[in-house]
Amino acid sequence: MKLHLMTTLFATHGNHNPHNYYDTNRPGNDRNPSNGYSYASTSSSSSSLRDTDKAFSDYGSTPVEIDQIKLAKKNKWRRKDLDGQTLVDDTLKELEGDDVFQETLKDMERKGLKQMSLEERKVRRRALDALGVPSFGDFVKDKGGDVVRKTTEVLQLNIGLYCNQACGHCHVESSPKRTEVMSVEVATKCLEILKQSPEVTTLDITGGAPELNENFRLIVRLAREMRPDLDIIDRCNLTVLHEPGQEDLVQFLKDNRVHVIASLPCYSEENVNQQRGGGVFERSISALLMLNEAGYGEDGTGLQLDLVYNPLGAFLPPEQGKLEVAYKERLDEDFGIDFNSLYTMTNMPVKVSILRSILINIHLAYLCAFYYGS
Ligand code: SF4
Repeated sequence: MKLHLMTTLFATHGNHNPHNYYDTNRPGNDRNPSNGYSYASTSSSSSSLRDTDKAFSDYGSTPVEIDQIKLAKKNKWRRKDLDGQTLVDDTLKELEGDDVFQETLKDMERKGLKQMSLEERKVRRRALDALGVPSFGDFVKDKGGDVVRKTTEVLQLNIGLYCNQACGHCHVESSPKRTEVMSVEVATKCLEILKQSPEVTTLDITGGAPELNENFRLIVRLAREMRPDLDIIDRCNLTVLHEPGQEDLVQFLKDNRVHVIASLPCYSEENVNQQRGGGVFERSISALLMLNEAGYGEDGTGLQLDLVYNPLGAFLPPEQGKLEVAYKERLDEDFGIDFNSLYTMTNMPVKVSILRSILINIHLAYLCAFYYGS
């Protein structure tokens, strides 16, 4: 794809402000039928302007190679040197210096996860009570509604908490320190349930980093064999595509027509690394390019690549449609990346430490009160 520079045209008239020559409100303007641009017919006619243009030897022959520029960007960000290089060591090093994580770890050892969850729930409920926000059940009743069980269409499996990252906002506190993973026996039972549930149209696999559970590929392969029409979703953190042993993961996902929903909380390096850890951004961008190379995010391939935005702090996400436009523009312009849709969500950190949790809960309770009241 070539785009010819119009700057040559403007420069020929000794004036570098294009608006002097491109003002459709001015009288005497006409439209050049050959290229669709409007030129002001001030002292010269448009044909004489074109004659002057021709006096410049490179006029019309100095192309901007959009495809070349895009390719250069892609080559820069597609970090093949990171293939097979684990992020786990960096994540563990960061966790050693993370006071909040260390505090949570001590809490977990002292109280156990169950007790922490109970405390967390109490804290949140108290904050909502203090603001007069009713329980969900009371709210629905108050509005004259009813909670009715509908047909189950989505089977979501959390197949483990082990992850190569340890994000600050992770609502299941995943990290390389977590060892809980779904066993092959439980995975087999889940597949049996799927087999007996024709009304289920989506199998949504999450974690942790679900791909790092050794049963992930078994689940995907058998589910695909069983149900060719099933929407199989892999909730992917992107950096996992660079982990050792995952070199063929993109091909596997493609072969099994897995729908990839990937986390990318921002298109800026600083914000992503702040929330998800050092080095995550460059790995994520490189992984998105790997997926694009395989046809993910490209119209007509049927390989769906969606991204997920979640706020970097205790605030609600911006409007999804507008943010999607901004994401598409920035990711395409800066890195040459394509994707299908963007989802915005509010990922609430839980079990992060009671103190931080109280602050976040109070803030979110205010937001809830605002929406409830309006
Ligand atoms: S990548 Fe996902 S699962 Fe892993 S720590 Fe981050 S939010 Fe949690």
